[in-house]
Amino acid sequence: ILEGKVALVTGSTSGIGLAIARTLAAEGARIMLNGFGDPAEIEKIRSELGALHDGADLSDPAQIENMVRRCTDELGAPDILVNNAGIQHVSPVESFPPEKWNAILAINLSAVFHTTRLSIPSMKAKQWGRIINTASAHSLVASPNKSAYVAAKHGVAGFTKSVALEAARDGVTANCISPGYVWTTLVENQIPDTMKARNLTREQVMNDVLLAAQPTKRFVTPEEVAALALFLCRDEAKSITGANLSMDGAGLPL
Ligand code: NAD
Repeated sequence: ILEGKVALVTGSTSGIGLAIARTLAAEGARIMLNGFGDPAEIEKIRSELGALHDGADLSDPAQIENMVRRCTDELGAPDILVNNAGIQHVSPVESFPPEKWNAILAINLSAVFHTTRLSIPSMKAKQWGRIINTASAHSLVASPNKSAYVAAKHGVAGFTKSVALEAARDGVTANCISPGYVWTTLVENQIPDTMKARNLTREQVMNDVLLAAQPTKRFVTPEEVAALALFLCRDEAKSITGANLSMDGAGLPL
């Protein structure tokens, strides 16, 4: 259903972004991958999907401009823009390193502004576009010690609504997907340390720590997030715009 469409998916070398890239590619979209990682692994993903990869560091607006230009020159202007790259840092606000604050705001929020401002003119010209932002449950609620992440993700939610209003008559939708805990290597890697630090079993860490606020007691999978992203690309989803769609297993306010 996406034959002839070009999708730029940021942070697509692992986790949620990779699942979204795979799902969109399987429907025929031509993909521009972005993100860091082991060059051999990235090359494997790139060739598997017949995609291009651009290693732009999204904290740098000049590299974002290059990436969007390269996508436009080599694949076509993005019809589907998935802003998914994100980082986290956990620390009380009084000791939160200012450089971490700046990096989180740059990658998790400002990059979404830059890719959007650079991609939306061609979407409006074609009267078709899909902007899908991976926000987070933390775009709606807060946790302690995640001030930068929570601020950036609330910002993404607000930005998305504003863009949706601006593009409402142009066939361009803008939405957030807000997952709770998703099973990615990022989450998996926290388990052994937490087991040791709190003297808990693997099961206890999963249910009582990570899934404390996820009543289904089940991690969201990257493939579930990707399925929703694909639905948002369908023509039947054209009236879903400006929405912040939770996928958090009936998540409780934190
Ligand atoms: P991940 O670490 O597996 O993927 C992050 C991706 O972003 C990677 O491809 C990485 O290379 C890329 N990236 C990081 N810094 C970058 C930079 N400066 N420039 C370009 N690319 C960069 O994590 P994930 O869990 O798949 O997270 C993807 C998105 O989902 C993030 O925005 C995250 O905040 C959000 N999210 C994750 C969860 C979860 O539980 N895993 C929950 C809610 C929201």
